[in-house]
Amino acid sequence: MSWSNMIGHREIIERFARLVARDKLASTFLFVGPEGIGKRLFAEGLAEVLLCQRREAGSFAACGQCPSCIQVRSQSHPDVLRVEKPEDKNVLPIELFVGDREHRAEEGLCRDIRLKPTAGSRKIAIIDDADYLNQESANVLLKTLEEPPPRAVIILIGTSPQRQLPTILSRCQLVSFSPLMPEEVALILERMTDLETTIPLTELSAASMGSIKIARKLADPTVFEFRTNWLEQLATLDPGQDEFGASIVKFSESNTKEAAEKRENLYFVADLAIHFYRQLLARILVQPFTADSALKAATEAAAARWQASLSLLGRSIERLCDFQARVEANANAANAVDPLLSDLRRLARGHRALLPQS
Ligand SMILES: [Zn+2]
Repeated sequence: MSWSNMIGHREIIERFARLVARDKLASTFLFVGPEGIGKRLFAEGLAEVLLCQRREAGSFAACGQCPSCIQVRSQSHPDVLRVEKPEDKNVLPIELFVGDREHRAEEGLCRDIRLKPTAGSRKIAIIDDADYLNQESANVLLKTLEEPPPRAVIILIGTSPQRQLPTILSRCQLVSFSPLMPEEVALILERMTDLETTIPLTELSAASMGSIKIARKLADPTVFEFRTNWLEQLATLDPGQDEFGASIVKFSESNTKEAAEKRENLYFVADLAIHFYRQLLARILVQPFTADSALKAATEAAAARWQASLSLLGRSIERLCDFQARVEANANAANAVDPLLSDLRRLARGHRALLPQS
């Protein structure tokens, strides 16, 4: 990948370019930032640069044409190791790192990274979904992070530092990626050949929260319409009218029978609300914020109504994060929605104490 084709994250590209020029690249990194903003793309681009056979010393540009560049792009380079959460799992299983019970220490990333590089001069590991490292997997990974093989580069990719185990966090250099700007999202969407939508790209980009993943989700008009209705509910500060809780459950189940997808939909519903409360706080504090027309209208209406302490906006966000944690832990989603809405109403009315949860 040529860096000129990568949209956004200029500062990070420049920072890594300086490190590579001085041959001062650390060996373990943790990339954090919302999903769908280009962290994985950056990691792949970095792997290409580091393994390119025609790169001049100190340069941060891969040639894009040598066998190594082509193999990294086609995900077939023997020295690039990749792991990610299997779709049917809630964690990054230990087997990915040290092999299954019958083949402990004979397979997996922790072993493979110690093998001599086959084509390049170093091994590169990209560990996606690092938010889902459980204690067991983290424990086996720690030794590799503490004593990586010479010149190896290990990149963990997660969404936030708070979601990482302290033992992992303390052993990685943190790199924070920001959400993309709406103009950047629009540029990326324009280049997509497989995106079909009736929603104007400017609206879609402004509503995307800076994430391509979310923009793609919102490209479906039923999802976009659900978002508008949900924002209208939140704007009343009395969410849950007209049995909206049931609409949320229905939305999470629409077009899918997969439990993982239903959970992802519910997580997304909470993300929309978290973003709404953040923008509301910014609006009340007269700080700049970016929003599409639906979010702007909702924020204005809610700002005019909000009477409670501003700290309760923070509590509302915490409550939504707690809901997301429950959804990820497989809590029966249908049962978790109504208590959430009830708590958001209580908080907006100034009640600090939330109802005990079952
Ligand atoms: Zn090359």
